[in-house]
Amino acid sequence: MDFDALFNAQLDQLKQDGNYRYFADLERACGKFPKAASHFEDGKRDVTVWCSNDYLGMGQHPKVVDAMCEAVRRTGTGAGGTRNISGTNHDHLLLEAELADLHGKEAALLFTSGYVSNWAALSTLGSRLKDCVILSDAGNHASMIEGIRHSRATKVIWKHNDVADLEAKLAALPADVPKIVAFESVYSMDGDIAPIEAIVDVAEKYGAMTYLDEVHGVGLYGARGGGVSERDGVADRITLIEGTLGKAFGVVGGYITGSAAMCDFIRSFASGFIFTTALPPAVAAAARASIVHLKNSDAERLQQRRQVARLRAELDKAGIPHLENDSHIVPVMIKDPVKCRMLADYLMTEWNIYVQPINYPTVPKGTERLRFTPSPLHTDEDIEHLMMALRTLWRQCAMSRAVA
Ligand code: PMP
Repeated sequence: MDFDALFNAQLDQLKQDGNYRYFADLERACGKFPKAASHFEDGKRDVTVWCSNDYLGMGQHPKVVDAMCEAVRRTGTGAGGTRNISGTNHDHLLLEAELADLHGKEAALLFTSGYVSNWAALSTLGSRLKDCVILSDAGNHASMIEGIRHSRATKVIWKHNDVADLEAKLAALPADVPKIVAFESVYSMDGDIAPIEAIVDVAEKYGAMTYLDEVHGVGLYGARGGGVSERDGVADRITLIEGTLGKAFGVVGGYITGSAAMCDFIRSFASGFIFTTALPPAVAAAARASIVHLKNSDAERLQQRRQVARLRAELDKAGIPHLENDSHIVPVMIKDPVKCRMLADYLMTEWNIYVQPINYPTVPKGTERLRFTPSPLHTDEDIEHLMMALRTLWRQCAMSRAVA
């Protein structure tokens, strides 16, 4: 059988639909973020990165870089095993204690990514709690959806951020089955924020546990970077907070926090925790340095907010349509996969601006967009340069009417 022909048929379809993903060949250089070198056919050029999830540039912060270098020299490169068999290092335990403190919880548990933490925690809770029903927000991330699917628990999808719909669905369930309300704080593609307190009120009324993905909130919201749940003063009422070390904290890895019993339960039964090599201790040390810094410094968050507001104001002035939200994510709506890719290509090749087109299946068809994530390290000149490019492209393509 010609397997490559089978693979290529589906890849060709993706390309035809404008949904095939191309890598940008970047070289990040320490201390230069948001600039990076990008490889083009005619050589390397400096580009400005506008779509990074290293939201605060912490991946190149001297304290974080130093912590990782120091720990590599001290501990070596890899962890040497799974957490249960020789892979647990003191740096992992220090980081777990730091994360528990960040969210005001008894315990925390590390995973190799945010994706794995959602998949492992939800699949374990949903499969191990007898007759469990998981109520999942319609906008939840693929890692939560896959975890729930793998658990084989009954899944009930409630309308995105719609507390009345959640309540109706909770009320329709038997009182005595375990229920988990799973949702996110900041939804990464629209940048909208969940009404966390209202969701928790309803979940508590029906005796459900709450599972909150703070992947796009940690480091960025709350006085100590504990996420939107900290900002809203409700972290202590959330049963399980999940987060990543790979976005605002600038490293890699994922975690859950909650009661000691719950973390021990997931630690003891989750295959995604048990059967995989632990994160390198140096990664844990770097993540801890990043968290400690952001617990004590608001400067990065404040400057990021200033640059987000500035970009939004400039887009408004230029009449370029973008989704309104209260977060750090600025989605400029294109609503067509081919146009979206074309605009991103022009920005890269003609303006040295890198923003990846966001197409299906990451977002629904017809809602394709360019997703800008201003950081504290983007200068006013970077924003002016981006706006010059967008104004020019909008004029050239007469886009404003076509995409309005
Ligand atoms: N949850 C959400 C909401 C996400 O957007 C992502 C990644 N984009 C993840 C979880 C997975 O996190 P990580 O990148 O650390 O695997």
